[in-house]
Amino acid sequence: MNFDTSKELYETAKTIIPGGVSSPVRAIKPFPFYVESADGSKIYDADGNEFIDYCMAYGPAILGHNHPVIKQAIVRQLDKGWLYGTPTELEINLAKRISSFYPSVEMMRFVSSGSEATMSAIRLARGFTKKNKIIKIEGGFHGAHDAVLVKAGSGATTHGEPNSPGIPTDVTKNTLQVPYNDIEAMAKIIEKNKNDLAAVIIEPVLGNIGPVLPEKNYLKELRALTAENDCLLIFDEVITGFRLAPGGAQEYYQIKPDLTTLGKIAGGGMPVGVFGGRKEILELISPSGPVYQAGTFSGSPCSMAAGIAVLDYMKQNRIWETLNKKGDAFRKSLSEIVADKKLNYYVSGIASLFVVFFGEKPTNYQEVLKCDAAGYMEFFKKMLDDGIFLPPSQFETNFISTAHTEEDYEKTIAAFEKNLPKKK
Ligand code: PMP
Repeated sequence: MNFDTSKELYETAKTIIPGGVSSPVRAIKPFPFYVESADGSKIYDADGNEFIDYCMAYGPAILGHNHPVIKQAIVRQLDKGWLYGTPTELEINLAKRISSFYPSVEMMRFVSSGSEATMSAIRLARGFTKKNKIIKIEGGFHGAHDAVLVKAGSGATTHGEPNSPGIPTDVTKNTLQVPYNDIEAMAKIIEKNKNDLAAVIIEPVLGNIGPVLPEKNYLKELRALTAENDCLLIFDEVITGFRLAPGGAQEYYQIKPDLTTLGKIAGGGMPVGVFGGRKEILELISPSGPVYQAGTFSGSPCSMAAGIAVLDYMKQNRIWETLNKKGDAFRKSLSEIVADKKLNYYVSGIASLFVVFFGEKPTNYQEVLKCDAAGYMEFFKKMLDDGIFLPPSQFETNFISTAHTEEDYEKTIAAFEKNLPKKK
């Protein structure tokens, strides 16, 4: 494959954009490919190369790229202007739909990204409980703001910076860490800190280090522990929301958190974030309450219109059953290849998420770190050369969409077969 144009673009980009990219995980080595367009399950770069995409914009594109129904909704809104700085009926219409999918989200506010959603949810939890500390899970990623950039997954782990310089220890001292799937460690840390513990924030399925699944009863016991100790449970469903089920992981696992954060799919690919939950908590948000939160682009009309379109389409076409079954079948095929090659690798995933861990089955962040991340990157490059774009890091999940075809899957499975190493 020829990447000359991308290489040239990268040389220029580096001179004016740090690392040549607008978000670190995109900085594939030795240089990223620069995209020209995308449609359905395919993404096209500036050199005219076509790839089957399993990165899918890191999650939002559950219906594939450039979906006509979402596009129409955005274009219709563009005709009427795209930013007013006033309330619109669109916000009410999207909020009603989200609340019907997520009964725990009785009230919500729109923001422009998942990071903003978790930042605001944490502030709200602190305002409501009048306590300061939060617990997050090692390897959990909740965006790139100060309180949560501690042992963070995703690009932070990929680039070896799970704790970022520039964040005062005065801030991070209030962020406690605990390994995923270890309810005893959680119980201990909650017990020790309960007098000043505002919330536990968790990705119910740890999506930002590949998907690592919760062990049986872990989330249920966590729900009970937080309730018993007067601290809020925040489910960060930016990845799992609208993906595992219409009502996300909380529907899938039947757990009711106090607060929920959403993003990605909720805006149909336009920038969006949502934080919501129990009415008595949300009513503390300004101007109905004292906890301040605001944004010029919050509730942006095109994001609202795209969100309504994607949610209605998914509901009418009941995409989940079919898509999740495709995920199961795909993971089964991958597991068979891994077994045939006698690799001690593990195919993990749920619903339309998957990853091949270059290592044994992990249950938490420390175990994921033992995977052969460099070996994964060699494999990633071979797949890219064969026209398949996987996330450029072992520590990310792959996404499938309703746009992926049987032909895509067949081609991808053949490429996995060809490119996964064989045990010597
Ligand atoms: N929470 C989770 C679980 C995420 O996966 C992400 C982003 N991948 C975020 C929060 C941050 O969202 P955004 O990139 O829209 O700020």
